[in-house]
Amino acid sequence: MPEGNLEISANPEMRKEAVNRSMTDMNQVFKEREVMEKAKSLGLHYINLQETAINPDLFQIIPKDVSLQASIVPFYRLGKHLRVAFTEPENETTKRAITALEKKFEIDQSLCSIESLTFAQKNYEKLGVKKAETIRAVVDEDREINLQDELRKAKQLPDRMKGVKTDIALNMLHEVVLSLRVSDIHFQPEEKQTSIRARVDGMLQKICELPIHLGNDLVQQIKHDSHLKYNITNVPQDGKYSFLAKDRSIDVRVSTFPTNYGESVVLRFLDAKKGIVPFEKLGFSPRIKTQFERAILATGGMILVTGPTGSGKTTTLYSAIAKINTPEKKILTLEDPIEFRLPGVLQSGINHRVGFDFARGLRSLLRQDPDVVLVGEIRDQETAESAVQASLTGHVVFSTLHTNSASDAIPRLMNMGLAAYVLAPSLRMVAAQRLVRTICDKCKQPHPITEEEKQEITPIISQFQRAGIEISTPTELMKGKGCSRCCNSGYRGETAVLEILEVTDEIKEQMYSDFSSQNIERTAREDGFLTMWEEGILKTINGETTLSELKRKIEKR
Ligand SMILES: [Zn+2]
Repeated sequence: MPEGNLEISANPEMRKEAVNRSMTDMNQVFKEREVMEKAKSLGLHYINLQETAINPDLFQIIPKDVSLQASIVPFYRLGKHLRVAFTEPENETTKRAITALEKKFEIDQSLCSIESLTFAQKNYEKLGVKKAETIRAVVDEDREINLQDELRKAKQLPDRMKGVKTDIALNMLHEVVLSLRVSDIHFQPEEKQTSIRARVDGMLQKICELPIHLGNDLVQQIKHDSHLKYNITNVPQDGKYSFLAKDRSIDVRVSTFPTNYGESVVLRFLDAKKGIVPFEKLGFSPRIKTQFERAILATGGMILVTGPTGSGKTTTLYSAIAKINTPEKKILTLEDPIEFRLPGVLQSGINHRVGFDFARGLRSLLRQDPDVVLVGEIRDQETAESAVQASLTGHVVFSTLHTNSASDAIPRLMNMGLAAYVLAPSLRMVAAQRLVRTICDKCKQPHPITEEEKQEITPIISQFQRAGIEISTPTELMKGKGCSRCCNSGYRGETAVLEILEVTDEIKEQMYSDFSSQNIERTAREDGFLTMWEEGILKTINGETTLSELKRKIEKR
């Protein structure tokens, strides 16, 4: 535009700037020409990277520190053929970098200017970091692990993470997750460091302390991988990413929460290998297993599992679904969100943003003509009604509910607005469960029963007899002495303690008149119902867990 140019030249300041700019351009042209000449004399190609389109993914091939030290960048790749550019062909570091690359690629060498190199190296920022998905955590998970050794090893994480790329540092954390078999990792920002804690067998353990900058880098990497907004740190965010273990992909649910020292981040690991346990391996007592199987193998009816978060109810439901999953059955799920992928099962995640909630999802899902339906949770009347309707029309419906006990589920559903004549014919079974730690196999040993233990156990022996279990107060109970395998806690692993309410005709009858949980439980007892506490006592007598562990997790009833 000639007019514009005239205007610029009319302004002395702008004119000066335009002249300076063109001087710089001219200098650069000369510099590039010099490099071109030098390349020719050395028998190398020449490349101007400022005029070349480069795929940033290529920068995963040469790590940033190598690129900076050896003044070398990749700029084109076709299969095994890689074109690289560098500024100092005689430099020993550059030569070493090329030799290393030649082990994997056929290298085509080009000379470029320092300006070109610096320009291309900006791609490292664009690339951010190498995707964590491409890194595999390799841990021998089948070996017998020693908690004390693993925790000691995990304490070295901050040293091992020093100076490595953040994605690799995160992968080191993933390895700890696999070797310690943890379900959650917590990043807790503090004044001078970030504490990393992990949940092992339901108990939070301190893993290590990271310097603040390293903690921040990891959080940024996690936010990047789970597509959260980097720059937003003052509102909670939720996301998800996955990483590759040796033989599978593990999903990680991420939640961030703003605190005074920075973002607190919790990673929850959804490992299908741990999440989908064969029904036989859930650790149910033979009695509970029989009752549970009877309910899930029936046609039609609603089966509920209740318990707080972390009580293992999802695992129980998934195992139950996996058990009845056969090719001739159509199983559909509605989850918030999908936790584990079940082969042969049609799973659907609810999406509140578009109004796809449990109630609406369930109505549509029934038009898909399933045999078995899993609804993640019954939270409101609408969902409860749809679930009940589904079970009345010949579907087996599985769901969860937040109640303290199995019998609580009945008044809870009635209070949500379900009429007795609807609920009574549909409800088949309610299970309530808690997870308790099991005694460490390696240091387990008997001890004479204490007076306190005797006082807890003796009064309920009659309940066991009523349930048809011939048992008397034992003289000895088991306890873990503490060893390196269990890191001196005396416990290793967890087991589910369940109470199962089979909805008999008597209980159905009661729903019309007196549906308080105490009355329902009283009726159930006549058929041998045992509370979670009593089931836990059975596991204690059986040497699986201890009375103090029961007290920590289960309300005495
Ligand atoms: Zn032990």
